Amino acid sequence: MTELSDTALVQLRGVRKHFGSLEVLKGISMDVQAGEVSVLLGPSGSGKSTLLRCINHLETIDGGRITVDGEVVGYRDHGDRLREMHPREVAKQRRSIGMVFQRFNLFPHKTAIENIIEAPMVVSRLSRSDAIAEARQLLRRVGLEAWADHYPSQLSGGQQQRIAIARALAMKPKLMLFDEPTSALDPELVGEVLDVMKELAHEGMTMIVVTHEIGFAREVADQVVFMDGGVVVESGAPVDLIDNPQHARTQGFLHSVL
Ligand code: ADP
Ligand code: MG
Repeated sequence: MTELSDTALVQLRGVRKHFGSLEVLKGISMDVQAGEVSVLLGPSGSGKSTLLRCINHLETIDGGRITVDGEVVGYRDHGDRLREMHPREVAKQRRSIGMVFQRFNLFPHKTAIENIIEAPMVVSRLSRSDAIAEARQLLRRVGLEAWADHYPSQLSGGQQQRIAIARALAMKPKLMLFDEPTSALDPELVGEVLDVMKELAHEGMTMIVVTHEIGFAREVADQVVFMDGGVVVESGAPVDLIDNPQHARTQGFLHSVL
């Protein structure tokens, strides 16, 4: 199991979440170091999406603590007391975390570049010309400069997902969360999205990636975390967790996806 530290950019300690009587996260502890990539693996229903959603304020947690860059997510730290944050502070925290979902979630009535400049203009109050200049750089980064004025419906799923990544990056996040970003794509489009993510990893972005792409995990992950039934079963470097899993549940899961 990867050891926990108090210097990690993202720290989860005993995180619990239930929906009604269903306990989905049963005390999750893990770290993500700044500049590192953690890949979350686990069968459907194991709580991976819920965990990402808790980090990004899309769900509130019922127990434990999440900190990102020293700030408690959703709460203000008063020593031993936690106070709920003002919605404005929550919004500020959320802006520093980018998220990319399985479905591309682009605004369908906006072009690629309009999708990217929306949040910088509305939320960060960037001027339109500055936002466009930055968006063009981002489009270049994801290899889609020529597609700036196309609408989502005119783009392939892989292109849409690359725009979704560019849109998240436009807010200059310190952390990027990816929830099965390639699982809705036709197989021939998976590689172009993974390539953008690899590039991002090499540039030093801190990332938590839920994916079944074991090759990506092996190549890019600093840490692989295997979850099942709302707990972390084991975690470690790819060479250990993927090639030499210790638990039968991990072995069984890897068999099913490899
Ligand atoms: P994973 O992403 O690993 O497939 P999820 O985090 O999506 O798992 O879901 C874990 C469990 O929590 C599943 O049993 C799912 O049905 C349940 N769940 C997720 N979101 C909700 C919700 N909003 N209300 C009730 N149950 C939910
Ligand atoms: Mg999920």
